Amino acid sequence: MIIIKTKEEIEILREGGKRLATVLHKVKDMVKPGISTWELDKYAEKLIRDMGDYPAFLNYKPEGADFPYPASLCVSVNNEVVHGIPKKEKILQEGDIVSIDLGLRHNGLYTDMAMTVGVGEISNASKKLLKTTEQALMVGIEAAQCGNKTGDIGHAIEGFVRPHKYGIVEVLSGHGVGKYIHEDPYIPNFGKANTGVKLVKDMVIAIEPMLNNGTKNVVVDNDGYTFRTADGKRSAHFEHTILITDGEPEILTKI
Ligand code: MG
Repeated sequence: MIIIKTKEEIEILREGGKRLATVLHKVKDMVKPGISTWELDKYAEKLIRDMGDYPAFLNYKPEGADFPYPASLCVSVNNEVVHGIPKKEKILQEGDIVSIDLGLRHNGLYTDMAMTVGVGEISNASKKLLKTTEQALMVGIEAAQCGNKTGDIGHAIEGFVRPHKYGIVEVLSGHGVGKYIHEDPYIPNFGKANTGVKLVKDMVIAIEPMLNNGTKNVVVDNDGYTFRTADGKRSAHFEHTILITDGEPEILTKI
């Protein structure tokens, strides 16, 4: 079921999105060689709790999972695509790329955001992967116009990415968000125009392309959470929570 948000809910989501963006940018500024992914998680959790809000992913149990997610932040390094579990012994190294993905609950409502950042100096190939993935997100957002369909978002992203020859992860997607961290509809990062669910004013969705510098195929680690590329090549992930309006889509996860 698609949940259309009320004016009051949208105000809360706007504030929550701003808070989430503020936290994630602060976490981004902490990314440097020598820091553990666990430290990034603890920092994100502290910033959220200090504002009186709640980390949305902590103890969240997706359908089919054996145990709830044990952290606030997903930290996915290099060939990890998404849902990397932070660990004390996992230390970031110069030249790594790291995806940080965070959900926040403010006044009962959820927003979701992710970005991939370089650790110290990164290769030109990694810089291009990050830049293209972020651009793919913006192309997807631009297609999220009232009256368009969810398939138009995926179609726009796929059309933009195709010349770059990156693998677009297909088994993971964007989603509605707000009352729950994952709601309908499903927002693909590939596919046919004019298919799927119609976008209407006051829908709130998360768009989140994941691009691999190789095959689109992914595998899941034994921990049940960590998705990584099947060929071991690097992957990037950018995500915003956005509001469908009768004009341009509004990015809620911005400072
Ligand atoms: Mg998401």
